Amino acid sequence: MITRNLRIENDKMSWEQQYAASFRNPTDLLTWLGIDIGTISDAIDTDSEFPLRVPHAFASRMLHGNPDDPLLRQVLPLKNERIPVSGFSNDPLDEENYTVGNGIIKKYQGRALLIATGACAIHCRYCFRRHYPYADESLTREQISTMISELRRMGDLDEVILSGGDPLSLSDSRLEELLDALATLPKLRRLRLHTRLPIVLPDRVTGRLATMLGQFPTEVVCVMHANHPNELDDQVAAAMHRLRVENVTLLNQSVLLNRINNDSDTIELLCKKGFEMGVLSYYLHQLDPVSGTHAFAVGDAEANEIHAELLTRLPGYLVPKLVREQAGALSKTPL
Ligand SMILES: *Cc1c(COP(=O)(O)O)cnc(C)c1O
Ligand code: SF4
Repeated sequence: MITRNLRIENDKMSWEQQYAASFRNPTDLLTWLGIDIGTISDAIDTDSEFPLRVPHAFASRMLHGNPDDPLLRQVLPLKNERIPVSGFSNDPLDEENYTVGNGIIKKYQGRALLIATGACAIHCRYCFRRHYPYADESLTREQISTMISELRRMGDLDEVILSGGDPLSLSDSRLEELLDALATLPKLRRLRLHTRLPIVLPDRVTGRLATMLGQFPTEVVCVMHANHPNELDDQVAAAMHRLRVENVTLLNQSVLLNRINNDSDTIELLCKKGFEMGVLSYYLHQLDPVSGTHAFAVGDAEANEIHAELLTRLPGYLVPKLVREQAGALSKTPL
């Protein structure tokens, strides 16, 4: 009943309003899901420095009354995140060392990653950027122009990746400014966005956004981030369709997460369901060993077993590459 009312409300709300109206604390979310806090065996952290944040569109795909729901578990802050675990640190990828300045990370040949904003619509507990030292604010016009001059100086650059945070947290007009500036780079051949917003808040894919991407002078690739087949519903399918008709190439990357998607049936279904929406599987990442995320870690032996099983069950073009990111490596590293 509550769900239905909310959905009707959501249909009338702009994506910005939905973004602002997200769940911001565990108690509200659990109450809405009809879950008694007492039934959750792990202690919930109600004042984490990386607080709960979930749009209703994503929460509406969680199973009512199930404390072990795989979508809920991705966002529920637990006290155990505060336990220091050896091997887990704040910047395991040494990203600070690869930051050119002005929000640019340049690790790989030909590609530069831009931190377009630090903001995200959803806070994923396993996130490798949870300790990243940038503010929750978007780029100013001056910062954009400094960034562009920096990119112009990179001789090998033919692809720019908008990341963050989530670049689609930016407004359409701010994105338009950024895209207009990037379109002036003479050697640019591909524009890529790394985003979870079309999954967690599908109304973010406005007609204006889709058109803007469709009119960009180079090929455009959107790498989505979904970890579980339950994340993909009809609203997501509609958002993917809006992008596909604009000839945007759609890929998905996932993180292998203990108790959430660490079995071959789940990943198989995720890859198949994604493809029905026009999305190809790209990467299956081993978790970055970031402080606070140890409960999500899956061992390499288990990861390899899952991947080997996927190879036997899926067409080759739907098997994600199993990789980890290693500080100093020249690409993602296959396991
Ligand atoms: C992952 C990543 C990329 C993109 O790597 P691909 O293998 O091309 O997807 C680029 N820059 C940085 C800093 C990255 O972390
Ligand atoms: S960067 Fe991606 S994984 Fe991290 S919190 Fe934002 S949406 Fe989640």
